Amino acid sequence: MSETKKIMIGLLLGVAVGLGLAALPGNIYDVTNTYLLSPVGTVFLNLIKMLVVPIVFFSIILGVMGLGDPKELGRVGTKSILFFLTTTAIAIVLALGVASIVKPGERGDFPTTGLEFDASGSEESSNIVQTLVNMIPTNPIQALAEGNMLQIIVFAAFIGFALIALGDKAKTWRRFVKQGDQVMMYLIHLVMKLAPYGAFALIASAIGGIGFAAVQAMAWYMFAVVFTLVLHSVVVYGGAVALLGKMNPIFFFKNFYEAMTFAFSTSSSNATLPVSMEVAQKKLGVPRSISSFVQPLGATVNMDGTAIMQGVATIFIAQVFATDLTMAELVTVVITAVLASIGTAGVPGVGLVMLALVLQSVNLPVEGIALIIGVDRVLDMLRTSVNITGDAACAVVVSKLEEKHLPAVDEDSWDEVDAK
Ligand code: ASP
Repeated sequence: MSETKKIMIGLLLGVAVGLGLAALPGNIYDVTNTYLLSPVGTVFLNLIKMLVVPIVFFSIILGVMGLGDPKELGRVGTKSILFFLTTTAIAIVLALGVASIVKPGERGDFPTTGLEFDASGSEESSNIVQTLVNMIPTNPIQALAEGNMLQIIVFAAFIGFALIALGDKAKTWRRFVKQGDQVMMYLIHLVMKLAPYGAFALIASAIGGIGFAAVQAMAWYMFAVVFTLVLHSVVVYGGAVALLGKMNPIFFFKNFYEAMTFAFSTSSSNATLPVSMEVAQKKLGVPRSISSFVQPLGATVNMDGTAIMQGVATIFIAQVFATDLTMAELVTVVITAVLASIGTAGVPGVGLVMLALVLQSVNLPVEGIALIIGVDRVLDMLRTSVNITGDAACAVVVSKLEEKHLPAVDEDSWDEVDAK
């Protein structure tokens, strides 16, 4: 049986067991979760996270070396950022449209008093200029230790340039990077053998912890988010991959869904990176030089699924608090959500904290987030799958657009150089 099938079975069993545990009386879920599901899920997640920083670091150096020319990196970077910004803006406009039609905040009685939400976490990431300035690490070792993705990308890109410029003089370094990458890839394959069990535990834990009552009360909100996520994936990613990437969208989704299921179980774009890069390179044929640059960047700054949740949530909260948003306020929501998506880290639950920024930009009560927090865990799983699919779609599109410019040699040719 293929690995993907095993993960799929783990996922489905996890959903079934989670639903069963949620329906059981007493504290059976709590006990099972504390002593079994949560530890197994966390061990698996930690094993993957252990590899994220070294894989991104080595891959980006190899990717930059593969591009061969700083101008090429500039072009790939500009096209990727353009793709990210455009698709995120479309995502949020779709979300605002769907939520305005479905009107989730007008279907049910939602309390508007006594709600509480601590929005302090959103302030740190709110200053976009600061985020850009901070991309250059003053201490690269600290950046690696803290897993600061943007800083790691910049530092690794500089090393890549240096290795190109130094040519033969840096032979040992090049061999170290190449072999470091191979070692990490080997380890990721090893860890992935546990994926079906990890996915099972993570899903059962998440689903079991969700109250049926909360889901029932928030059904229309959840429907609006899920519908927009699917619409955006099929129309925007499917369309971009077909029209710009010249790839059959069915082929794209069929091959990429392994990474999507992984994102679904981990709710973390960052933790999914090793898998999504591997799948994009091996199954979608994206050149490593493009994939290893575009996907880590996307996992950090491109969050269309998160923007969709934020768009629907904003309209939902406005409706619950009986506030009409003007056209100018809707435009403000689009701009803030795009910026918030850049500042959202690829880890579970951050999108909800960043929603506070969007609400504040149009003077909606941040406490409204307390209404949706109960069902956010499941939506986080789904939106993370969309987040990483957007990064892969971008990698497919950019590699097609850059086809002519890419050097014919790939990073394996460095082996030949080294062998001399
Ligand atoms: N969990 C999401 C991600 O990692 C971020 C979020 O929306 O909370 O992509």
